[in-house]
Amino acid sequence: MRSVHHYISGKSVEGQSGRFGDIYNPNTGDVQAKVDLASDAEVDKAVEAAKAALPEWAATNPQRRARILFKFKDLLEQNIDELAELLSSEHGKVVADSKGDVQRGIDVVEFACGIPHLQKGEYTEGAGPGIDVYSMRQPLGVCAGITPFNFPAMIPCWMFAVSIACGNTFVLKPSEKDPSVPVRLAELFMEAGAPEGVLNVVHGDKTAVDAILKHPDIKAVSFVGSSDIAQYVYSTGTAHGKRVQAMGGAKNHGIIMPDANMDQAVKDIVGAAYGSAGERCMALPVAVTVGKDTGDEFVERMLEAAQNLKVGVSTDKDAHYGPVVSAAHKAKIEEYIQLGVDEGADLKLDGRGHSLQGHENGFFVGPSLFDNVKAGMKSYTDEIFGPVLQVVRAETLEEAAALPSKHQYGNGVAIFTSNGRAAREFAAQVNVGMVGVNVPIPVPVSYHTFGGWKRSAFGDTNQHGPEGIRFWTKIKTVTQRWPEGDIGDQAFVIPTMQ
Ligand code: NAD
Repeated sequence: MRSVHHYISGKSVEGQSGRFGDIYNPNTGDVQAKVDLASDAEVDKAVEAAKAALPEWAATNPQRRARILFKFKDLLEQNIDELAELLSSEHGKVVADSKGDVQRGIDVVEFACGIPHLQKGEYTEGAGPGIDVYSMRQPLGVCAGITPFNFPAMIPCWMFAVSIACGNTFVLKPSEKDPSVPVRLAELFMEAGAPEGVLNVVHGDKTAVDAILKHPDIKAVSFVGSSDIAQYVYSTGTAHGKRVQAMGGAKNHGIIMPDANMDQAVKDIVGAAYGSAGERCMALPVAVTVGKDTGDEFVERMLEAAQNLKVGVSTDKDAHYGPVVSAAHKAKIEEYIQLGVDEGADLKLDGRGHSLQGHENGFFVGPSLFDNVKAGMKSYTDEIFGPVLQVVRAETLEEAAALPSKHQYGNGVAIFTSNGRAAREFAAQVNVGMVGVNVPIPVPVSYHTFGGWKRSAFGDTNQHGPEGIRFWTKIKTVTQRWPEGDIGDQAFVIPTMQ
């Protein structure tokens, strides 16, 4: 059986811990490969490699760092088909979706190629007599990234591409559920000319995560995953003196106003709710309709659209979405559907027990649609992370807008309307980090910045964009003067107010 090993100092390194994880083929339910699960000592080895590579890499001028990133971007583009197929085979999302995952990673690498400009400091000439002040953004040192299963190409690129561009060296701990693409990314990064040890990959579970969080030589950790673990990573990492950003779960709402273009809203939301089997942190699993007529029309049309979705294996070009990632996750989604029924919501379409001929053991879940979901229900409060759309009925925009604002998560939100003023007011007031106006999945482009609010993100700096550069660098400010001749009157004296 194929084994996925660590990748340290530019080489594949077989695990020594004696512990392995199973990598499933979600289409068939079979175990297709094993992945090494690192011990503390193996994390240490990766950190040592990153530490050894640090002085030279941090001293490499930004233009040279950018040239490697440009080459890496080319290699990602040349290999996008292979990467997407590999990604689909472990994650289960359809290949077109996997290409989008890789492309979003490429977008961030492209952003990071601008590092000579992005990392420039600031300069004030003549801040005092003969005094100039300048600031510089210096790398932090050895940094780490811990990533979730649902975007195994894009999210590692969010982290290591920007961090390494800034002059740091890196240890990536990807999800143990689909670890092959992150290893390929590291191999391609080496092929692009990165020195050994600049990017290392260790696989693992809580043991590896804890070793990273407590490691004295790691200066900063970026995490993306579920909220309870994000909070744990944030508190443990900061308690060990690290800079930490930790993105968590989500429950994004889409508000449909009576003046919305209903064709657009239904088409957009069917993709945002069910695409990638709902396993996106920017999926749209809650639709809030404003007014009875809007709600009735939306539910009727959404039911028809959801019934027409094709669930298929990840290689099926006609499938709208594929299996979910694991048997445990399929069971969890189906339990939430039962919970919704028990809590009194109207189940209009039931995706449980979905079986695909020839793939009876695959992790497939059909589309589900609930109407009349209420804010107090646990199935509404929790993140389900599956192909389940919940419709909540509201009477006014104020009532509708209060739902995402009060929800425990605050990643993304969308409004569908033709009223610019209402949309503008909504965007300004809503208590959520990323807002879409007639855009169902408002993921910001790579040169803006990605991050939610409330339990969707712990720490205060976002991914990529200018915030990413700030997270992966520390600022140093220099105040200088070059007095001529005898210092005499030019000396700073105490008191210094004069
Ligand atoms: P997860 O929290 O189970 O795993 C994320 C990472 O944490 C993995 O690398 C995993 O190995 C590690 N981990 C798991 N259990 C751990 C433990 N007990 N202690 C320490 N580390 C542990 O998340 P997942 O299932 O891989 O991904 C889905 C979740 O990620 C969803 O909640 C989704 O909303 C969220 N997500 C958020 C964003 C965002 O930007 N906000 C983006 C993508 C995914």
